[in-house]
Amino acid sequence: MIFIHPTAEVSNKAKIGDGTKIWHHAQIRENAEIGENCNIGKGVYIDFGVKIGSNCKIQNYVSIYHGVVIEDDVFIGPSVTFTNDLYPRAFIWSEEKASKTLIKKGASIGANSTIICGITIGKFAMIGAGSVVTKDVPDYVLAYGNPAKITGFVCECGRKPEKFEDDNKDNFVKGVCKFCKKEILINKENLNLLNIKG
Ligand SMILES: [Zn+2]
Repeated sequence: MIFIHPTAEVSNKAKIGDGTKIWHHAQIRENAEIGENCNIGKGVYIDFGVKIGSNCKIQNYVSIYHGVVIEDDVFIGPSVTFTNDLYPRAFIWSEEKASKTLIKKGASIGANSTIICGITIGKFAMIGAGSVVTKDVPDYVLAYGNPAKITGFVCECGRKPEKFEDDNKDNFVKGVCKFCKKEILINKENLNLLNIKG
């Protein structure tokens, strides 16, 4: 079942998956696609052609513009703003101008962050509240600030993994999460960015 609050405006050309809830005053435009079991908060704007996977939480007053693709299990905190024009001029706009932005599976973006277009935020990456993200963020990376900088790594449960072990396999180092005991694979190059020793 899909729930759409009577004050929300959902285009009849938008595709909404089963179990998704759309709350007060949200606007979903034509050809937007939202997967199953998502929660779309109060006052959210989802532009035409935006794609959102399943099990995503889009908190109140988020703006998601044309060119943004969001995979499954993504958390977007309140008032996060996406952008889609690297050369914004009120008098120069065409659809082709929209840069693509990709938010990969399981990533989280903290409240009030701004995502400059044309970047990718990796799987299970976490962006601290109030950040301005101007560059790609690798998988499992914790980044925050303005401009956002890599400051560590996060497990799928959101805590910081410890015990970095190098098993000399490929290009990855193993991190272990104390909290959920999960092992995560971190690209060595990203680890080097932080100077964390194995
Ligand atoms: Zn964990």
